[in-house]
Amino acid sequence: MASEQRIETAASVDAALGFALPQRHARGRLVRLGPALEEILAAHDYPAPIAHLLSEALVLTALLGATLKDAGGQLTMQAQTEAGIVDLLVADYKAGALRGYVRFDPERLAAEPGPPTLAALFGKGYIAITFDQALTSERYQGIVPLEGGSLAEAVEHFFVQSEQIPSLVRVGVDDSGRVAGGILLQHLPEGEEGRERLHTRLDHPEWAHVRMLGQTIRAGELADPSLPLETLLWRLFHEEDEVRLLSTIPLGKGCRCSLEHVSSVIARFSAEEQAEMVDDQGVISVDCEFCSRVFPIRLDDLRA
Ligand SMILES: [Zn+2]
Repeated sequence: MASEQRIETAASVDAALGFALPQRHARGRLVRLGPALEEILAAHDYPAPIAHLLSEALVLTALLGATLKDAGGQLTMQAQTEAGIVDLLVADYKAGALRGYVRFDPERLAAEPGPPTLAALFGKGYIAITFDQALTSERYQGIVPLEGGSLAEAVEHFFVQSEQIPSLVRVGVDDSGRVAGGILLQHLPEGEEGRERLHTRLDHPEWAHVRMLGQTIRAGELADPSLPLETLLWRLFHEEDEVRLLSTIPLGKGCRCSLEHVSSVIARFSAEEQAEMVDDQGVISVDCEFCSRVFPIRLDDLRA
């Protein structure tokens, strides 16, 4: 028989890979961002600690967004603070498209003696995670305090405390700031099968085993752009009876801003409101903070 050439198309960057460990009642996602991350960061000129923070947030947003069952749904992660260096962080996901930005105080950041801790960046902050389901127009929001050493830890707390789902969340960001990856592992389906939600026990032996394996993952592996996600999955769980591959979702930078869209939003304001926004040249300037773009809208064009 003639040898057949098999072309490997396993994704290693800009993808989310879903998987399940059926015998352990566990499922998860692996995400790695490369060019998409560079494109998002290129729209801003963030100092390293802020770029690192946004990279972490984008990986988490992709991990959570990829769990949406409804393909048109949107996931938004927002971190807000009281008196932190960072005032606001927003990242969202819709159908594989990611975007995000950070509003922060550059002077206070520069005054930090070393790399700032999460507490220094956010002060007393909280993280809000919003799931918008397009099909049912259902909206669900969970809010947790921003505690722990990283955003990933705060998201893990969100699942464990608010959702009562035993979860493991890890994120790795490459020092170059151009690659980042993460894993979300959860002990889930018992509740879905209508049984008592015993899985909320964090010491469930099934979960203890899966968590132990998941914890062996290293930040360097998560952020290695040459390591296919399937290979990484195999490294973690090759001794399990069954590792089921679920869908792979391609990820990219995406924003809904355009001159048409922004014009249509401004057109909905009353003439009085528009008059307050317009400058001496008869132009209303609208920013897209995600893209660091300004859309100049001529009031005359709007009314034409
Ligand atoms: Zn935009």
